[in-house]
Amino acid sequence: MQIKEAVSSGTMLPVMEAFYTIQGEGSFTGHAAYFIRLGGCDVGCVWCDVKESWEAEKWPVKSIEEIVAEAEQHPGRLVVITGGEPLMYNLDPLTELLKSRGFQTNIETSGAHPFSGQFDWVCFSPKKFKEPHPSIYQVADELKVVVFHKSDFDFAEKHVSKVREGCVKLLQPEWSKASTFTEQIVNYVKSNPNWKISLQTHKFMDIP
Ligand code: SF4
Repeated sequence: MQIKEAVSSGTMLPVMEAFYTIQGEGSFTGHAAYFIRLGGCDVGCVWCDVKESWEAEKWPVKSIEEIVAEAEQHPGRLVVITGGEPLMYNLDPLTELLKSRGFQTNIETSGAHPFSGQFDWVCFSPKKFKEPHPSIYQVADELKVVVFHKSDFDFAEKHVSKVREGCVKLLQPEWSKASTFTEQIVNYVKSNPNWKISLQTHKFMDIP
């Protein structure tokens, strides 16, 4: 099979980086996790801290067997698939293989592409720069909205009515704006206790 066809079927994927670390944000904060960061993103967030991920062609394409074999080198059995925007790819083959090898599979996505894959935890972080695909709302376990501007509180509420009951709702200050919005976020969560605060603890602790 040609590489292009293998990528479109999801049996090979462009990997920007993969590393074993501590999940720093969201519901799994503090858990040891193997991150698989896929290359490629067409969302275009102005504050993106991984802009180098945007061009998929820059990154080596690896077979899913190779990706999973590398994950198995570490003791943790929690994998977080992130990007870039990982749902640009068919994630069925990779997640099926990971699960068959005993991994818990989590994803972090903007939801901008149709949902695929077998996931134990779906962190949906919608972005203003590209409308989410409707398939994300019924599978999201966590709605995580990054607060970069005061209009982001309204943007966050816009998604609440669409996610499932029980979906965890998190507001996370964008790192460079954290001090600007701390008070507003604290007051917002106190007045709207269906939301919780998520912090990028790995940045406070300087964990890569
Ligand atoms: S969706 Fe993620 S990777 Fe893509 S531009 Fe936004 S923050 Fe960056």
